[in-house]
Order: sequence, then C-alpha cells, then structure tokens
Amino acid sequence: MDAVLDLAGLDALIRALVTSGRTVIGPVLRDDAITLAELGSAADLPAGWGVETGPGQYRVHRRADDAVFGHSAGPQSWKRFLHPPRRTLLTSGPAGFQPVREDRVEYAFFGVRPCDLSAIGKLRQIVGGPMPFVVAAQCTEPGGVCFCASMGCGPSAGGGYDLALTERIDGEGHRFLAVAGTAAGAEVLDRLPGRPAHERDVALAEEDVAAAARRMGRAMPGTDLRDLLAANREHPRWEDVAGRCLTCGNCTMVCPTCFCVSTEDTTELDGGAARSQRWASCFEIDFSQLHGGAVRTSGAARYRQWMSHKLGTWHDQFGTSGCVGCGRCIAWCPAGIDITEEAAALAEGAPG
Ligand code: SF4
Ligand code: SF4
Repeated sequence: MDAVLDLAGLDALIRALVTSGRTVIGPVLRDDAITLAELGSAADLPAGWGVETGPGQYRVHRRADDAVFGHSAGPQSWKRFLHPPRRTLLTSGPAGFQPVREDRVEYAFFGVRPCDLSAIGKLRQIVGGPMPFVVAAQCTEPGGVCFCASMGCGPSAGGGYDLALTERIDGEGHRFLAVAGTAAGAEVLDRLPGRPAHERDVALAEEDVAAAARRMGRAMPGTDLRDLLAANREHPRWEDVAGRCLTCGNCTMVCPTCFCVSTEDTTELDGGAARSQRWASCFEIDFSQLHGGAVRTSGAARYRQWMSHKLGTWHDQFGTSGCVGCGRCIAWCPAGIDITEEAAALAEGAPG
C-alpha cells in the first residue's frame, strides 16, 4: 500500500536497504556539487542544497528549505556504477593471462530521477548486468537545462523502480509519498514507520510533478528527430557548431547513456601486463581510426556523429532515443553548447 514517510521514515528506508546487505548509493554534497556516493543514513543526503544550471554553468546554493531532493542532475550519473569508467579485464605474469574476477556488488540506487531511471533502462539494454534495487525520486525541481518532458522521460517516473518517492514540504511538514513499483519494494515499504497515503497525498504529488513539467527549462523541437538528423547530414550548422566545440568529449563523459569504450594493453618493467577497458568518446580523434587514418578528422564530423547517433540512429540500433533530456551535456559543456538549440537550428525551416 502507498505510504507517507517523514524524515525518520526516510532514514529507516536507507538503513533497511543497508541492513539487507546492499551498497546504497545516493546524492551527497561533495566538491561543490551534488555527486553520487555511498549512503549510511538520511543524514548523508544533501538536505537544503539546490543547484542552478545553464549552458556551461553549474552552481550549488543553499535553499530556503531542507529538501533532500531539491536539486537536478549533477555531473555524475548512475552509469559509473553499471558501466565503470575503467576496468581491468586481464592481467598477465609468469603464469600467463588471467581474467580479472570482479566482486559482484548488490546495489540500491537511492533518489534516482525519472530521466536517469530511463537512462538506466537504455544503458542496461547495452551493458546488461543485474538490476539494482531502485528508489526513484519523482522530479519536482527541474533545472534550467532540463528537457526530459519533451523526451518523454520525466518528470514523473514511468516505471522500472522498486519504490518511488515524491517529496513535499508545506505547512503540514516535510514528507515523502512512497509508492511501491514491485513486490520487493512493497515488502520494504511495509516494514517502514509511516502512515497510509490518502487520496489528497497522491493528488498533491501529481500536481507537484505536473508543475515541474510546466517549469522545465528547455524543450526539444517537436519534430521527428530521427528523420531530422537523417535529412540534414550536410546542413551548414555542423560547421557553425564546430567553430564553438572544443571536441573535449565532456558531453559524452557526463551523458548517462553514452557507452563507448576503448581497450588498452599496458606492460610493466617487471614483465607484468594488463588489458583494461576505459570509457571512450566519439570526440577523440582516434575513435574513428580505420586502416590509413581517422575517418572523422573535423570537429564538424565528430559533433554530427555524436548528435546523429544520440537522437537519430540510436532508434535504428536500440528502438529508442539515446537522449533522456537530463541536460548534463549542456551544463558541463565548457563552450555552453546546447543540444536543444542545435536541434532547433536544424529544425528551422524543416517540415514539423
Ligand atoms: S545527450 Fe545530453 S541531455 Fe541527452 S541524455 Fe545525454 S547528457 Fe542528457
Ligand atoms: S559539445 Fe561541448 S562538451 Fe561536447 S565535445 Fe564539444 S565542447 Fe566538449
């Protein structure tokens, strides 16, 4: 049954997940950003911290209340736990090559935004692995660079969670509507201190999430993006954006769905060697290396490749868009390049 938890109930939820043997990961304030780290209790959450975002901008600030989910997407995503930035695959020594056995961690992801929940689904389609226990946090605080509503990935959590929380602070107190999405979620919820949710609690949560959709900072153009990208391979906008893009690859590193990797072999002076895998970016010059050299040598070709795959050919590969509208690539681009603005420039004059 749906329930309403107070802060003590939220704390009991985190502690119950820890006690069940899971490694609980959630938002914390660290290095002037809301990052993701292991939680031991509700005291670790970034209570009272919000963020301001814009193209090439991200700042944390003190809120007027103690909301724990009063912030939008930070620089990290859940990708780093499902698809680590660096993994050693093999080592070699006198006994020959040995595969590296990785410890299996049973994760609980706590406070997953709907955009990121959608990204977890898209990423797991590619990298696989066990599904963590997910406590979603429905979005009532969209950031300036968010556009999940126009990608159909938020601000409400469509599914794929074990529990979904909606935070509310008003004259009646600081509380969380908790809704179970799976039997495992219901089983945890049943053991928490809280009261049954009433129709009014559900209606208020729905209204808060609907208001978040109306306040969303940005939107993708409403046109078919797959067709738009396919029809504009030679558009002059690619040279225009290349004049601003530094080909640094930040957008691909922060993107919760970008999954490309490179494999490297290293040797040691003592005769040991290792083969490892690391995140790679289609903005790297040697990413498109074939016999005779790189295929995409210009910044225009590399930006076009990234955006065309993300919004266009991802549909052909995986049956869905590769973008969830989290806005990270806009906030963390040092040149402030905005993928929604680039799409709008391509769409200008195109049939809607
Ligand atoms: S392309 Fe940008 S907005 Fe879309 S999912 Fe990746 S980082 Fe988020
Ligand atoms: S679009 Fe921005 S973040 Fe991406 S490679 Fe270019 S400069 Fe870097």
